Amino acid sequence: MRRTIAALTVAGAGAAFELSEVELDDPVDGEVLVRVEAVGMCHADLAARAGDFPFPLPGVVGHEGAGRVEAVGAGVTSVRPGDRVILTFDSCGRCDRCVSGTPTQCRDFVAHNFTNGARPGGSPTLWRAGAPIHGSFFGQSSFATFALAGQRNAVPVTGAAAELAPELLAPLGCGVQTGAGAVRGVVGVPPFGVTAALDVADLVNDSKHIVGIVEGASNPPVFLPRLAGLVASGACRRQGSSSRRSPPTTPRWCWSIIRSACTAGSGTSGCSSSSTTSRG
Ligand SMILES: [Zn+2]
Ligand SMILES: [Zn+2]
Repeated sequence: MRRTIAALTVAGAGAAFELSEVELDDPVDGEVLVRVEAVGMCHADLAARAGDFPFPLPGVVGHEGAGRVEAVGAGVTSVRPGDRVILTFDSCGRCDRCVSGTPTQCRDFVAHNFTNGARPGGSPTLWRAGAPIHGSFFGQSSFATFALAGQRNAVPVTGAAAELAPELLAPLGCGVQTGAGAVRGVVGVPPFGVTAALDVADLVNDSKHIVGIVEGASNPPVFLPRLAGLVASGACRRQGSSSRRSPPTTPRWCWSIIRSACTAGSGTSGCSSSSTTSRG
């Protein structure tokens, strides 16, 4: 079975995002269907749209989703329908690096997150007019009203964190996880108030280096709930006055938020518009 959804499709390299009706598979074994409530927009989405990222087009990108579980496939035990989840990067879960708790170093990371444009086994999840288009971007393709993820990359949040506004949860899935994980796990956590000086001359004379860190070297099922808990506790300050459900305000870590205006059920009849806000 497939359901009709609304998605921001990209026809080819350099094309604009286009709001389109597409069809999404129902979840198969190990998959989680998520009703997307908000997504962050990361540079990888824009690079993929520009054709500068190894993701095949036409397709649907989006890799910082937050929403509620709509349905689960057989064998899914980590979440149930109605659970609040953050969508993050995917990994195989079987290689030595995944098993040892470092899924950012998954030996099949690239295929699982972008080059396939489909499920790890190669079958498509998204269709338009009966023909497959590419999806499964970072195991989700969340620029849509619904997204299919695996139970490894649909991370549940509970308690006060589950009540946070979705636009606060979504960017935790990539951008915030990457920065916070890099500081916490790789650079080390400095005392509060420490200022790190970085001058371009330091880079030129080789006295300091900028080091790339994939997704904050994070293990999402462990790290994302902690991040969400920090936001819920107020420990992570942001612009705006409230961290609870309230009129949307954009936290300073969000470069851009796209909120779906589609609140209808499985169809797109309730989809009258979409909106994009961009700040920072
Ligand atoms: Zn990202
Ligand atoms: Zn792996």
